[in-house]
Amino acid sequence: MATKPSFVTISMIEETAVDIQEATPHYNIHLQNNRHVTADYIILATGNSQPRPLPFTATHSSLPWSTYTLSLDNTTTPVLIAGNGLTMADTVTGLREQGFTGVIHTISPNGYALKPHSQPDLSYFLSAESIATCSTLRQWKKEVYKQITQARAASLPDELVIDALRPYTTNAWQQFSYADKQDFLRHSAHFWSILRHRLPHSIHAALEREFQAGMFAPHKGVIQQTEKDSNGGIHVNWYNCISRNHRQLHVQKIINCTGPGTDITQSSNPLLKNLSSTGLLKADELKLGLWVNAADYSVIDANGNNHRRIVTLGTNLKGLLWESTAVPELRVQCKQVAVRLLQQVNHKEKACI
Ligand SMILES: Cc1cc2nc3c(=O)[nH]c(=O)nc-3n(C[C@H](O)[C@H](O)[C@H](O)COP(=O)(O)OP(=O)(O)OC[C@H]3O[C@@H](n4cnc5c(N)ncnc54)[C@H](O)[C@@H]3O)c2cc1C
Repeated sequence: MATKPSFVTISMIEETAVDIQEATPHYNIHLQNNRHVTADYIILATGNSQPRPLPFTATHSSLPWSTYTLSLDNTTTPVLIAGNGLTMADTVTGLREQGFTGVIHTISPNGYALKPHSQPDLSYFLSAESIATCSTLRQWKKEVYKQITQARAASLPDELVIDALRPYTTNAWQQFSYADKQDFLRHSAHFWSILRHRLPHSIHAALEREFQAGMFAPHKGVIQQTEKDSNGGIHVNWYNCISRNHRQLHVQKIINCTGPGTDITQSSNPLLKNLSSTGLLKADELKLGLWVNAADYSVIDANGNNHRRIVTLGTNLKGLLWESTAVPELRVQCKQVAVRLLQQVNHKEKACI
């Protein structure tokens, strides 16, 4: 970690920011306790928002990263996890660590397909030149399939190609048209995600053992309706996309692991939601994050004004960069933003960030 320059002091306030108002030349940041702080520069590093509520389970669902989620009414009655991604795997592990011994059902329209990390000694050498010249999704897909075919011919797994693509993914995303991006999100993001986001071998093997023992039951399907019974349990009607028929489950809880919500107009984060309604923040065109200036990650408001002294990073940049969640990317962004801000702030004057 870089050393903090001597003219910088850091103070932490444990409060939720709920609004920002311009009070030229400063900004007032309003806190939940009715107090406010004044700043010259603001970095919005708000992280992942909670998943969008499930349509049929508003009163029954729990959020994956709240401690309440793992405190179950009893340790044996089955639970249902909506979602079949990495957060689901984390939640299954957490439930078992808490002593839950019942069956864990999971459900998503694409089903369970998580893969383990590949062997650390394997790698794929990507011919970067041909990838770098792809400017449309069609060209990019064609090239990726070509590289995957070459990897397979060398007995290498597909995911090594996606790993090797990582330095080029953001550039490719930014070349795509709006229609290409929509197409990718609709038809390819799921397959890309399976190859890109993988599990540690030990967790993958544990899920496989649970599956063989009938304790982990992943379903490819859609929740259609839920109804609470008199004992506090939940009857779930769901559609099985493989057998193409309607099924029922009875569970004590539904845990929402459908992935972080990205649309700020619907955000569970009061700051993002308020700033979206006042227009100081605007969602990017795909509603994956914030509308920003690509050069320095400063935000652009609903009227198209660029606020150069409010910058953001992390998942708020997903619309701009696509890859903007994992710690390695975030580390690079943090450094870029910190260096830029320190250059802007004349350290002889007193500036508050
Ligand atoms: C379940 C899960 C597993 C993951 N596993 C991995 C992994 O294995 N490897 C990997 O590289 N990445 C992983 N990630 C992704 C990575 O951990 C996150 O993207 C990263 O931690 C985000 O860092 P951040 O600082 O941007 O946000 P966060 O770590 O979420 O921090 C945001 C902070 O902002 C605060 N905040 C938000 N809104 C306000 C507000 N209005 N007022 C005041 N404070 C506010 C929050 O309280 C929090 O302290 C995982 C993410 C999740 C959810």
